[in-house]
Amino acid sequence: EYVWLDDKMIKRRDAKISFDDRGYYFGDGIYEVIRIYESKPFLWKEHMERFSRSAKEMDLSLPYSPEETETIVTDLIHRNNLQDGFVYFQVTRGIQPRDHLYTRDLKPVLTAFTREAEVPVQNQKNGIHLWVLEDIRWLRCDIKTINLLGNIMAKRKAEDNSCQEALQHREGVITEGSSSNIFFVKDGTLYTHPANHYILNGITRQHVVHLANARHIPVEEKAFTLQEASEADEIFITSTVQEIIPVTELKGEMEASFSPGPITRELQDDFRQSVQK
Ligand code: PMP
Repeated sequence: EYVWLDDKMIKRRDAKISFDDRGYYFGDGIYEVIRIYESKPFLWKEHMERFSRSAKEMDLSLPYSPEETETIVTDLIHRNNLQDGFVYFQVTRGIQPRDHLYTRDLKPVLTAFTREAEVPVQNQKNGIHLWVLEDIRWLRCDIKTINLLGNIMAKRKAEDNSCQEALQHREGVITEGSSSNIFFVKDGTLYTHPANHYILNGITRQHVVHLANARHIPVEEKAFTLQEASEADEIFITSTVQEIIPVTELKGEMEASFSPGPITRELQDDFRQSVQK
């Protein structure tokens, strides 16, 4: 198995990270996860645009152009003979003796690997449970930084309570999952949190909004409260690796049950078709 590190493709076992990498000290870097279906990246352009935006918002210079990055990632997919799975890549600001103050002359470090991953068909069919908890993260959740402490704490709490994902809220206003966006259906309208600093603007989220528009399902980018969530007709989450997963139970700070509904099913069907195109 091959990985990319800095400026070379190497065997995974030969990959050695620098002690003074700012990613290691500060989580000072950004990343993307892109789905690979039949050896081809899905929504590549959209992911690269978000990657560039994250870099800009962090005052981080990228080591490669989008075209060069695509070549690197494509080579890695082929070298590893990846059919269905995902590619992960990150860029850290570079190597510097530990100092909060970063300098602008560092050479950023690109790391990339691929992994096989099946589409989680069982969860897509049967749904999952969400653990409701407070969103304790910072106020720039729109940046796809590798610094994910709040997210991993939420995911662990969810798992410890037999839930597959978290539902985070700020003073009763629902933001997103620990690694997914959340959608609600109420009276035929699809609702999801506006793409502001409180959430990561998921590529799957954007794709689902696009699919809903094509089906003439009304979409409103409006945050839901916990109270509104308990009265929703359908709830689902979206992410690159999981696609669209119905939510059948909310547990923790509030409790409510749902069934996978018709709009969720239509969007799942449309999603599959869009992948096959
Ligand atoms: N929100 C957060 C916090 C995430 O980590 C992710 C997935 N990495 C998402 C939403 C979903 O984004 P995407 O659809 O681009 O995978």
